[in-house]
Amino acid sequence: MKFIAAAKLPLLLERLGRHSQVYAPVAVDGRVWLSPWTGEDIAGGYVNPVNSLKTLVYPQTEAVLEFEGGETDVTVREASPPAPQVIFGGRPCDAAGLDLIARVFMEGPFVDELFRRRREATTIMTVACRQAAPSCFCRAMGLSPASERGSDVLFFPGPEGYLVEALTEAGEQILEQAAGLLDDATGDQARRACQELPVPLAGDLNTVRLTPEEGFEHPYWEHLARRCRSCGTCTYLCPTCYCTALFDVTRGTRGRRLRGWDCCQFKDFLLMAGGHNARPQKKQRVRNRFLHKLSYHPANYGEQACVGCGRCVDNCPVCLHMAGVLKDLGEVERA
Ligand code: SF4
Ligand code: SF4
Repeated sequence: MKFIAAAKLPLLLERLGRHSQVYAPVAVDGRVWLSPWTGEDIAGGYVNPVNSLKTLVYPQTEAVLEFEGGETDVTVREASPPAPQVIFGGRPCDAAGLDLIARVFMEGPFVDELFRRRREATTIMTVACRQAAPSCFCRAMGLSPASERGSDVLFFPGPEGYLVEALTEAGEQILEQAAGLLDDATGDQARRACQELPVPLAGDLNTVRLTPEEGFEHPYWEHLARRCRSCGTCTYLCPTCYCTALFDVTRGTRGRRLRGWDCCQFKDFLLMAGGHNARPQKKQRVRNRFLHKLSYHPANYGEQACVGCGRCVDNCPVCLHMAGVLKDLGEVERA
């Protein structure tokens, strides 16, 4: 393991910024965002940034292609390839969430090229958590404040700086670029890195599974639907939600095809061109959100589509969140 003094971290980011766009945690109006870094103070003392790593690898809106021409003569250009980027300061739960999405888009016969190109142009440097919010439940989902999944480099923060561990080849390259800024970690520093990690809500919620046969018509969904406001906050903030829609923006004879996040909680999410809506009732939409994460995704990938980041816990205006639902569903299964 290596060690980098806190005072040298900006030097490292500056060095990485010569060849890549660097993102780092920056405080904006009292909240910490992973933001393009241009030398600002690097925020500390936050639990999780407002935006997860997903937002920088799978952006809210991105160009798929550009087109130009008339009715018979159309020129189509692919979107420009993404620039290399290095992201410092995301949390291990969000890196695991990004890896979960990467399995959807990059495994199997159909690879999403837009996602693949940006993921492969991205190096992820996560920082292990030294504190947990009451809403965190990564351990209950089989992760931990220092999970390695999805990270290229893992930083363990301490009083004087960070222990640094490369986890992938891309991570090794970062350490090579950091030559002269890193020292060998002392035994004492390594011991301290393994201690003091917080213990967010434990338990084994990641074993809760709901089969559609058992759960589809349960009155519980009606109960949840009466509370849900269909605002979409939960899915937009979630590091593992990935639904999108395509739309064209045109000006004269030129235009761009864009891909933007969509939300299964919106009334028109499954509204077809012919006027049929496959999920017109709120109960169906709420049910879909939880069945997707707890039934359909596990059936396809062998794991729940939740990493316990706590964003839906903190931000749902009616406290309708995954931690509560997982606990309730445990009860439903035992009933
Ligand atoms: S954040 Fe809460 S109220 Fe808004 S859509 Fe999600 S569950 Fe419903
Ligand atoms: S469902 Fe909620 S707790 Fe789970 S990953 Fe999404 S936002 Fe985080």
